[in-house]
Amino acid sequence: MQAFIDNLVHLYHTDDTFYKISVLIPVVSTGSFLAQAIPLSLLVLWNPKWLQGRYIKGRAQNSEILSMMFWGLFYSVFNHAVLFGALAALYPYYEPVVKRAMVWDDNVSWITIASAVQLVITFYLEDMFYYNIHKTFHTNKFLFNNVHALHHSIRRPIAMIGHYMSPQEFFAIGGTVLFTPFLLGFVGTMFGMNFPVHYKLMLLWLGLRQWEAAEEHCGFEAPFLIAKYIIPLYDGPAFHFFHHTKVVGNYGAVTAVWDKFFGTVSKGYDNYVKGSPSYEPDAPL
Ligand SMILES: [Zn+2]
Ligand SMILES: [Zn+2]
Repeated sequence: MQAFIDNLVHLYHTDDTFYKISVLIPVVSTGSFLAQAIPLSLLVLWNPKWLQGRYIKGRAQNSEILSMMFWGLFYSVFNHAVLFGALAALYPYYEPVVKRAMVWDDNVSWITIASAVQLVITFYLEDMFYYNIHKTFHTNKFLFNNVHALHHSIRRPIAMIGHYMSPQEFFAIGGTVLFTPFLLGFVGTMFGMNFPVHYKLMLLWLGLRQWEAAEEHCGFEAPFLIAKYIIPLYDGPAFHFFHHTKVVGNYGAVTAVWDKFFGTVSKGYDNYVKGSPSYEPDAPL
């Protein structure tokens, strides 16, 4: 065990890529999430007049909001600590693949046309992966009861519960978020092609995805929620809010595309989007 730890310490001091993966990934992931989740949750707690009437389906009690903030922060830090340990411990196993599929050299420009295309593909490819994994968490009763139920104990979410989930679920979802740009870089270097993914693009993607994870749980609609302006087809916080209130349907991560295609849109969500009178904002969850 001591030799294993000594090896990781040695890697930290001698291998720049080890530092970029095991330290930068958890720091960017949790930093971007908390930078958005803390102010959005405090706003709901403060409950200013202009925010009242913007809640998707009412507002939780103050005691509930404080509890969600505490446990949301706890699980975000705890799950990222586990992620840090896993990324560091498994590094020798995935290092060769990751070094081939990605650019780790800071002297190589990451702002290119290929990077922009890779970012767009990553968003929608991960959305498809997430839809399938998330739906499986619901259709498989064992997985729902033992892995996904913790996240669904919240019926009226606030932004801070975006990482309120079991480590197993965090691994499955976080693993998919990280795996997608790696996969794209891997495919981009096959058959003599030269389109690896730059690690800075992967960090940008991770930051945007965590920003969106906070926003989709915030529980209200407002013009300053910026994800909908920068992510085409993003459905806004109501889409995932309905997933929490109805538990069935709306399984997509960012878009409603796959739910519409497979007919799994949550009951009542279409009426909400259309502003139909049959949608009752104050009806029981
Ligand atoms: Zn779910
Ligand atoms: Zn959720």
